[in-house]
Parts: sequence; structure tokens; C-alpha cells
Amino acid sequence: MNPEVLLSRIRVVLCRPSHPGNIGAVARAMKTMGMSQLYLVEPKQFPDPEADTRATGAVDILERAVVTATLGEALVGSVYAVALSARQRDLGPAIGQPRDAVADLLAEAEQGEVALVFGNETVGLSNEEILHCQAAVTIPTNPEFSSLNLGSAAQVLCYECRMAAFAGKPPVRSQGATPFASPAATHDEVEGLIGHLEAVMTATGFFNPLQPGRLLPKLRRLFGRVRLEKDEVNILRGILASTQVRTEHGRKG
Ligand code: SAH
Repeated sequence: MNPEVLLSRIRVVLCRPSHPGNIGAVARAMKTMGMSQLYLVEPKQFPDPEADTRATGAVDILERAVVTATLGEALVGSVYAVALSARQRDLGPAIGQPRDAVADLLAEAEQGEVALVFGNETVGLSNEEILHCQAAVTIPTNPEFSSLNLGSAAQVLCYECRMAAFAGKPPVRSQGATPFASPAATHDEVEGLIGHLEAVMTATGFFNPLQPGRLLPKLRRLFGRVRLEKDEVNILRGILASTQVRTEHGRKG
């Protein structure tokens, strides 16, 4: 299925969020990853100017957000839900890794709407809320400090959703031509440069052909590593030619 359609089927559900700023941050996290369905279960304060400020360009997601009284209502019509929890709950589903859980979530999204369910900033998800979900995920963290900010946790999961929807290779906007790039130099052009360098280095006395050492192989390795472009070969050869003109003038004068 088209990756954008898959992403449009994922609801992000925030249970009892306390800080409107976090709701805005989640909206922004979602929009950057091509997701749009935000559900808010009993938000403490919403709508709120702080949410708009933190959403910046994603206010449209806040405007379309669905506010419900219970998690059950936010999941109406969905076929699968993954709980986000910083710790294992007694009765909840076994905790999995985000990448695996998101692969399952997207497979389910082929059938219908699915959800990522996040908890309150202070108390997380309740046991009852977790039991509405078919899978649970903990983002692996420093064991000493495992609780992410709500917006950050949402960003990690939304990123994983985008990666999975595009099979690991989402298009990057800046892809395409590198500014100022010229075509790759050919083998003979690089050889011409090395020959030119050798001549100049010999003329200046930097290189002694009778005792070549490792200088030329090292230079070859350097050029092999940088993958020279045509323009770059021309610039370097221009510089070399200019030193030859000077040494010849020097000799004449
Ligand atoms: N003190 C709470 C954490 C609240 S953070 C607790 O211990 O549960 C707010 C929400 O962000 C969490 O409910 C969870 O949905 C998400 N979150 C934060 N850190 C996370 C982590 N390491 N793994 C998965 N979800 C996390």
C-alpha cells in the first residue's frame, strides 16, 4: 500500500496530557513524519495558545484533533493499538522494541485504522488503558534515566513509522544534484593529474624519481578516496601549470 496512505491510518492518542505544550510538540512530531490523526483523551487544557506555539507549522493537526472522554472512544473503528510505556506493567502485553512493534502496526494498517497510545506526563498509562492495547513498547534508554518527554517519545515512534512505511528509505528533500558538483573525473583524467603532479614535484625537487618511496602510491590512494570531479582535476592542474610558468620565468630571469 502507498506509504502515505499507511501513515494516514495511524492515530496518535494522548491519554490525559497535562501540558498543552506537549500536545503541540506531538502535533509537530507527527506532521514532520507525514502523520495527521491526533486524538486527545481528557486533555487537561486544550485548545491552548501554548499548544499552538509548540506546534509551529502543525497547527492544522491541532485544529483537526479529536477530543474524547475515554481511550475506548479514541479507539472506535481502529483494529490495533500499541501502548507506549516507559516500564513493564503487571498485566499489560509483553514489552517489545519500537521497530518490531511498528512493523506489526503497519502490517495491521493494511487492514484498517491503528493507534499509538501515549500516557500522561507524570503517571504514564494506567493498567486499564494498557489493556485496551494489543501490544506494548518501551523505547530503549539509559536504564538510569528512562523517561522521555512526551513529544520526544512521539517523535521517535513517528520516525519509526515513516521509516517502516517507506521500507527503510524515505525520500529526502535535498536528494538530487549536489550544488556546484561536476561529473566524476575519468581514469585518464586522474592519471593526467598524477603525471602532472609528478612532473612538478620532480622539477621543484620535492620528488626524487631515483628514490620514489611511497609518495605516489599515497597520492593515488588519496585521489581514490576523494573521488575527484572533472572541475576539481582542472583546478588542481591549473594550479600546477601556474607554478610551472613561474619556475620557467624564474629560470629565464
Ligand atoms: N513517569 C511516567 C512516564 C511519563 S512520560 C511513567 O513512568 O510511565 C509520558 C509518556 O511518554 C509515557 O506514558 C509513554 O507513553 C511515553 N514515554 C516516555 N518515555 C518512554 C519510553 N522510554 N518508552 C516508551 N514510552 C515512553
